[in-house]
Amino acid sequence: MEFKKCERCGCFYLSETAVCENCMPKDNFELSKLRNYFDNENYSNTIDHIAVDTGISVKNLNRYLENEEFSKIYNKLNISNNL
Ligand SMILES: [Zn+2]
Repeated sequence: MEFKKCERCGCFYLSETAVCENCMPKDNFELSKLRNYFDNENYSNTIDHIAVDTGISVKNLNRYLENEEFSKIYNKLNISNNL
């Protein structure tokens, strides 16, 4: 195990997970929200719209969507960096 920087709050912690212990419940909450959201056939196909619909930040969405379980959905999304 090694020190990692939490993806959510930026604190350092010792674990194999992507976020610290404090942020884990928030991650889990948002992940279940996201799963429910994608259960709906009419989900938006851009990260920006999904962020608005779910209230999850774009930064966190990008992180969640890298998960294997969302790979099929991720491939269908309109990923563009038109900043
Ligand atoms: Zn944290």
